[in-house]
Amino acid sequence: MAKDPRKALVLFSGGQDSTACLAWALERYSAVETLGFDYGQRHRIELECRTRVRDEVRAAFPAWGARLGEDHLLDLQLLGQISDTALTSERAIEMQANGLPNTFVPGRNLLFLNFAAALAYRRGASVLVGGMCETDYSGYPDCRDNTLKALQVALSLGLDAPMTVETPLMFLTKAQTWALTQRLGGDALNALIVEHTHTCYLGERGPLHAWGHGCGQCPACVLRRQGFEAWRAGGAGELPA
Ligand code: ZN
Repeated sequence: MAKDPRKALVLFSGGQDSTACLAWALERYSAVETLGFDYGQRHRIELECRTRVRDEVRAAFPAWGARLGEDHLLDLQLLGQISDTALTSERAIEMQANGLPNTFVPGRNLLFLNFAAALAYRRGASVLVGGMCETDYSGYPDCRDNTLKALQVALSLGLDAPMTVETPLMFLTKAQTWALTQRLGGDALNALIVEHTHTCYLGERGPLHAWGHGCGQCPACVLRRQGFEAWRAGGAGELPA
């Protein structure tokens, strides 16, 4: 299959969703770089998983490894100055009156994508790939398809260069995300995702469950476990083409 000649920059946290995006981009684009954000996450485990997942992907999928370029980590500690949330303080995860979990940092994905676009421009990349998703998700308005379509236009105009924002998980359920990675990289990729990616809000690695490491109780673990179990039970349904 002919590769798209463009270079892509994947927003890569080391979690299940961004690892799916990384595999999707490596299958599609001739060159791929990764970008992570250090914003004072309570759980440094996320940042450690990024390096591990990249190494494991390179080792298990040599053709992808040949296209996997540099990793970048931007220091966005300043987010701590404009947010006080469960991700950056010790406050418990709870639902707010507006239905959003208080892990919500207002407009966080807008900020991430603006920084990503600036870096992509410097790196000669014209595609941004992110794991934002409208389905099975907590309702973050800056993850919605219309928000990202509008941002794509704003970035392309503001940079005076085409900047495509790709969100391959946008309309997938969590079960379908497992089906997607199965299609992209078979059992080897899903085994890698189970073992090496991190999702748990509480930062627990703990014992390895069928669906991965984690506390098993927090909203992120529950979503991941339920998606995995639905996929294993054959409940992912048809993947969009
Ligand atoms: Zn958890």
